[in-house]
Amino acid sequence: MLKLDYHPSGRHFLQIPGPSPVPDRILRAMSLPTIDHRGPEFGALGLELLGKLKKVFKTEGPVVIYPASGTGAWEAALSNTLSPGDRVLMFETGHFATLWHKMARRLQLEPEFIGLPGYEGWRRGVQADMIEARLREDGAHEIQAVCVVHNETSTGVTSDIAAVRRAMDAAGHPALLLVDTISGLASADYRHDEWGVDVTISGSQKGLMLPPGISFNALSEKAIEASRHNRMPKSFWAWDEILEANRNGYWPYTPSTNLLYGLNEALDMLLEEGLDHVFARHQRWAAGVRTAVAAWGLDVQCLDPDVYSPVLTGVVMPDGIDADAVRKIIYERFDLSLGMGLGKAKGKMFRIGHLGDCNDLTLIATLGGCEAGMQLSGVPLAGSGVTAGLEYFAQHPLDAR
Ligand SMILES: *Cc1c(COP(=O)(O)O)cnc(C)c1O
Repeated sequence: MLKLDYHPSGRHFLQIPGPSPVPDRILRAMSLPTIDHRGPEFGALGLELLGKLKKVFKTEGPVVIYPASGTGAWEAALSNTLSPGDRVLMFETGHFATLWHKMARRLQLEPEFIGLPGYEGWRRGVQADMIEARLREDGAHEIQAVCVVHNETSTGVTSDIAAVRRAMDAAGHPALLLVDTISGLASADYRHDEWGVDVTISGSQKGLMLPPGISFNALSEKAIEASRHNRMPKSFWAWDEILEANRNGYWPYTPSTNLLYGLNEALDMLLEEGLDHVFARHQRWAAGVRTAVAAWGLDVQCLDPDVYSPVLTGVVMPDGIDADAVRKIIYERFDLSLGMGLGKAKGKMFRIGHLGDCNDLTLIATLGGCEAGMQLSGVPLAGSGVTAGLEYFAQHPLDAR
């Protein structure tokens, strides 16, 4: 919110790539009275939503829910499958991959961080051939897990997870595959079982359109087997007691009841619309936003069109312009929040989220705030991104059903 001594009129434009705007239908579902988490009604709700959740992860296996942000689910994935001193191979796609790597070190793992060099390395996705080459060198199979970020939220790059699985298979390497799709799930196509992922990590406040506060691990049989023997201390995060209680729709401790009401509603909304339609909707929004960026004469952060993110777009500022100063003007003048450049991208770009409770016209308004804010900041623009974006949406009706 703007710092005013009165309540600003209209809705704040929350166009960061998570938390995303929450649909009213979900907020209303969450406003119902909190119930007894050991009572019969609760078990029915738990079973219903755990079943629907599998469809969104595209898995037949269990999905564990934590009352924690996505970072907790990262820790859960590592601490349930690995042991202190284990080697893990992580790929540096951007700031979130970097944070996960830092966590692995704090948990006394021995992560190896590979990637393309420098800031430019953050403008492309996971290079499956580099993973394959490294795994082929590891003839003794010391590497216990490969960790990659599906949708790198700091840059707007959605990596090809099926290609990572193919690379691991081609190298004949038995490592587990751990994938962070905290910001990808329910906006970008994702297939836990088909892609042979062992642990998928996700969160509530991005594509699932919920407020922050719950997060997920989807598990393969192989991951569950690893959790029975691994030696990293785990208690709150341990899958075994949660899976046991989940059989009847309960949790071993007090779950986030009202967020689970919201999750149940979000799952209904996604499944009613159909996941393919949801993905096509985000792809189209992303294409419209990229059309606007091109009309401004600016570059998007992602340099490889095959991995443009459907969830968010990074807009690179010309040399000599501080992207954070531009964002500040946009926020103060137009009540519009954009994502900041993180880590190596700090000050170089801003990020437009196109996920959650959006539509064509809220995105056009977002582009309007960006355009006017850049003009006020002295960013030289080649033309109107608002006009180009509107034309794109008008000429490309969404009809993927
Ligand atoms: C948001 C995000 C995280 C961190 O999740 P929190 O809920 O903030 O803990 C991790 N990875 C990615 C890719 C994200 O987008």
